[in-house]
Amino acid sequence: MNLTHPWLDQDGDKLREECGVFGVIGASEAAAACALGLHALQHRGQEAVGITSFDGAEFYTRRGLGHVADNFSTGESIAELPGTMAAGHVRYSTTGGAGLRNVQPLYADLADGGLAVAHNGNISNAHHLRAQLVQKGAIFQSTSDTEVIIHLVATSRYPTLLDKIVDALRLVEGAFSLIFVSPRGMIACRDPLGIRPLVMGRLGDAVVFASETVALDVVGADFERQIEPGELVQVDFDGRISSHRPFGQPHPRPCIFEHVYFSRPDSIFNDRSVYESRKQIGVELAKEAPCDAELVIPVPDSGVPAAIGYSQQSGIPFELGIIRSHYVGRTFIQPSDGARHAGVKRKHNANRKLVEGKSIVLIDDSIVRGTTSMKIVQMMRDAGAKEVHFRVASPPTGHGCYYGVDTPERSKLLAGRMDVDAMREFIQADSLSFVSIDGLYRAVGLVGRNNAQPQYCDACFTGDYPTRLTDLSERRQAEAQLSFPVNKVA
Ligand code: SF4
Repeated sequence: MNLTHPWLDQDGDKLREECGVFGVIGASEAAAACALGLHALQHRGQEAVGITSFDGAEFYTRRGLGHVADNFSTGESIAELPGTMAAGHVRYSTTGGAGLRNVQPLYADLADGGLAVAHNGNISNAHHLRAQLVQKGAIFQSTSDTEVIIHLVATSRYPTLLDKIVDALRLVEGAFSLIFVSPRGMIACRDPLGIRPLVMGRLGDAVVFASETVALDVVGADFERQIEPGELVQVDFDGRISSHRPFGQPHPRPCIFEHVYFSRPDSIFNDRSVYESRKQIGVELAKEAPCDAELVIPVPDSGVPAAIGYSQQSGIPFELGIIRSHYVGRTFIQPSDGARHAGVKRKHNANRKLVEGKSIVLIDDSIVRGTTSMKIVQMMRDAGAKEVHFRVASPPTGHGCYYGVDTPERSKLLAGRMDVDAMREFIQADSLSFVSIDGLYRAVGLVGRNNAQPQYCDACFTGDYPTRLTDLSERRQAEAQLSFPVNKVA
């Protein structure tokens, strides 16, 4: 029997963080540091990459489809980007003819000089604002929500760039971590709720901003602090740093899914080790949903830390019952289920000798469409597992994300159309349990969810969205977040 399942495309059945950003000012080889930092953020976006630098007189930009290494591995590519300041971006969803136009950083010549911007997140009233701007005569070059921000900055009547950016950001709703590159320096900011992450570090005299601390580690920068929700940090060419909180100090709601899956486990998110949070989710899961099994087996790679936690708490041995090939290229993201199935790859294989005749508990970080979970359960049964129990290190994902995460529409989310028992039946497991929402909050160091004032955004689990969703309420192609411009916007 062939135990390699070529249809097992786990990446096609995950929520996808849309992008990562990196910026550095005051470094002698800013573009090289930027490329290295983006390489460490590659897991946040693998379809396109761009870097813009500034050398005191001119802006330089290089953008391309594919991985960082495909575009920035040669000395020549870095030499095209001179200067001591650079910002870059990795992203998903830039296929199609218009793809390259949407690759960031986006650049525009404004009245006061050039401005480049790299954006992680999604503006949930971008269609609304764009329609207003177009009515006033604005001409858009791309289909990205980030260009809406550029237009708002360009048309602001405030005198300084910082004030123009604040003026623009007061009009937008949703999630944004932004890095601006201007002739006067760099400005990094995070939306008032801090939905998407952004951290700051030091590399000698240089100041570095990144979506995750792992990018600071990789370039050799020291982690200084996270950019606070609603904070703008301005850095000039003399190294002067100023912090601004123009939006007051609203109650933060960072994305709890960063702990579950998006961030790399070696990152620090919201002042917590992501690895530790994931392990702790496994501990909570073992307490809430114990299982009479002989082996704890992670669905690699993202289920590993939770499986370690589950094993340590339950005393059931942890074993690698599924082996992932690291030499298989990633499947290019396909827009339709049919194409996804056609484009799957050989990535996982059952460790047959280990699981044969055993009752096992599989640990995965999440269930999205459920098709992968079903296939993994079947793979373990084909390998001879006696019983296959399934435990999930997040609550059921039953709602879409409008904050820059690529989520299938609700009707394609397994938890959007089934209860847990029906889900168990669908994936054909002997038992199925998810960590509770309070268990997840405990795992990230809290006593539980404060329902009156939730400490995180958890909308994909609870449907409790922390911002208005103007485009959705106006039915402005709301299923198409403008930060995913894959030919979805005419
Ligand atoms: S809806 Fe889910 S994935 Fe989106 S920001 Fe909120 S917690 Fe994160």
